[in-house]
Amino acid sequence: MNNLHGDQWLESLKSKLPEKGRGEIIIIGDGDSTHVPIDRGDIERMIRRQKRHAAMRGWLYKGVAAVACAGLVAFTLGTFDKYIHQVVESAKYQALAEKRQAAVEALDLYSQFTADIVAEHAQSLETQVDVLGTDMQTVEESIDSILGTGGMISARSASADVLNQHVPQTSLESLQRIRSIEEFMAKLPARVPMAASHMTSGFGMREHPVSGHLLPHRGIDLVSWDEPAILAGGPGRVTFAEADGSSGKMVIIDHGAGVESYYLHMARIDVEVGDTVAAGDVIGLMGDTGQTDGGHLHYEIRVAGRHLDPAKVLEVIGDVE
Ligand SMILES: [Zn+2]
Repeated sequence: MNNLHGDQWLESLKSKLPEKGRGEIIIIGDGDSTHVPIDRGDIERMIRRQKRHAAMRGWLYKGVAAVACAGLVAFTLGTFDKYIHQVVESAKYQALAEKRQAAVEALDLYSQFTADIVAEHAQSLETQVDVLGTDMQTVEESIDSILGTGGMISARSASADVLNQHVPQTSLESLQRIRSIEEFMAKLPARVPMAASHMTSGFGMREHPVSGHLLPHRGIDLVSWDEPAILAGGPGRVTFAEADGSSGKMVIIDHGAGVESYYLHMARIDVEVGDTVAAGDVIGLMGDTGQTDGGHLHYEIRVAGRHLDPAKVLEVIGDVE
């Protein structure tokens, strides 16, 4: 692929996408990137729009190609990714720096092409945040706690400068939200904490099995008699590992960003406070210590002390086996 002009370039990009379903574009910021799903239909819409604009502004084709080459905003897909990096490092790229103005103007148009896609992706992720029973404020506070504030794109690099000036504010906000949600979801424990387990009690209001009172059940109960080893739901650090009254033998894992998982009523604890665990590491055995009506694992996920429904977390982000 030597010629990166106009719709040829978009056609070439289209050919890299799967015929059915979505691929993704990677929008490169300063030191990080955002992944946005895209399909062939999206590219076809871009080509149609590009043709309409090109009728009015003949330089557009060159400009879009210049943007792609300059790597200000790069479409990357599989081997195309490698190609872009080669281009960015080439002498041709240096020469293209002079065409910055054309690139800037093309970027304005390009950002219109992608704004819809970015907004749609942000919206679908926000729907997942709703499904999890949390909200964007919690997600953003949680992520700020590990990343610090200051936004996705630093003002220091030339490319970030161009992005800040020419990408519509709404798209930057969408990209910021996408990044926060993706970072947040990456912190949530994605693994089922017992192999071959089934859920005997879900999250929400229920009659307490021992006292009979109507009380909120702040986790889920899992039973696995065949494989009763309890596994860490995600990577993290053990912050609690001992018996605690009605909770029985309990382990708490801190996953960062205010996300914790709780494992109650264990028969045996195999970790100590301060241990670092990977997702799926054995942390103990299912049991019936504390106040229970029989052997089970009571499993909770908390974000800044607020309880999420672990079944929803597993449904939205889980490694379903
Ligand atoms: Zn329970």
